Amino acid sequence: MELADRVQSLTPSSTLAITAKAKALKKEGHDVIGLAAGEPDFNTPEHILTAAKQAMDEGKTKYTPSGGLPELKHTIQAKFKRDQNLDYNENEIIVTIGAKHALFTLFQVLLNPGDEVIVPAPFWVSYPEQVKLAQGKPVIVEAKEQNDFKLTPEQVEEAVTDKTKALIINSPSNPTGVIYTKDELKAIGEVCLKHNITIVSDEIYEKLIYGNEEHTSIAQLSETLKEATIIINGVSKSHSMTGWRIGYAAGNETLIKAMTNLASHSTSNPASISQYAALEAYSASEEEVNKMKNAFAERLNKLYNWVTELPGVSCVKPRGAFYLFPNVKEAANACGYDEVFDWVEALLEEEKVALVPGSGFGAPDNVRLSYATSLDQLEEAAKRIKRFIEKHQ
Ligand code: PLP
Repeated sequence: MELADRVQSLTPSSTLAITAKAKALKKEGHDVIGLAAGEPDFNTPEHILTAAKQAMDEGKTKYTPSGGLPELKHTIQAKFKRDQNLDYNENEIIVTIGAKHALFTLFQVLLNPGDEVIVPAPFWVSYPEQVKLAQGKPVIVEAKEQNDFKLTPEQVEEAVTDKTKALIINSPSNPTGVIYTKDELKAIGEVCLKHNITIVSDEIYEKLIYGNEEHTSIAQLSETLKEATIIINGVSKSHSMTGWRIGYAAGNETLIKAMTNLASHSTSNPASISQYAALEAYSASEEEVNKMKNAFAERLNKLYNWVTELPGVSCVKPRGAFYLFPNVKEAANACGYDEVFDWVEALLEEEKVALVPGSGFGAPDNVRLSYATSLDQLEEAAKRIKRFIEKHQ
């Protein structure tokens, strides 16, 4: 069967090989510690489950408007006002099947063939692929480790061509966990405004920021930046609701209308029951969200110390999300591996610890460790990695 060109250019997931190997080892009865997870390990809070059950009992199981329930949009509007003092009207919001599909739909309605999208590396694996699926061209710009993996306005300026249509900002970031300050966002925003570039601001990890820092959306910095920005967000990470598949986009009305039109011919509405669950998530207090956040903060601090004590390993300290993205090149070389990817495979084989190689995120010297697992498991994983490095040096 001859497949369409558009899917043939998709890059196979570099995490797949490792994940498949980890699964096979587990099946054979090995005690594998998986640090590859991209989702919180907590249950969805009880009050959200109750709201979903109630929605089912009340027969709220039919089609909703393609762009989402008006009452859910109202709670999203209220959330924007509460959290960022941002005003969006109902026509400037679309509820989607997770943040992932908000991004997919956005690129489909935004990009013409050959339009360029600036994607800072390290990047979330789906950005370049989604841009390509919309016949756009991802322009990968390396955010340097010495600059805490953050793009500078000069780098954006250099990457701009007459084909540049959009730029992606993901703060807090997957995989690095770094967050941009207000000033950094403002400076990048100015370059985007100067060149009429749409800013795609993926804020899915907004609620997972540790220490004294606060989340800033680039859209809240000025009215013109708000007009140039499409915010992407959702309940997956904040409320441990990855399986419910509720995300949303907010921004320019014409764009949102086009996205809603596309959704009406492709997916129709996100699951009605999930929408009622999300409505509860955003209407209730954030007590449960904060409990999860505090647990993540404790794990981050401990794991960061364990990881940075490993020989040949350095790590930019994450401020948010639930990942560490250390550079392990020196450790891999000292163990006799030229490529970090091979080091990751050997670590899995010998010590049964599954990490994600950084190559899939556009940073081949790094690995991603997720701390969406218990402290005991994290401590044991750090011990095993240490043993592996010491054995091979
Ligand atoms: N954006 C980033 C940066 C992510 O890490 C993820 C999930 O891993 C998503 C978007 C997608 O989130 P959702 O599960 O809501 O589709």
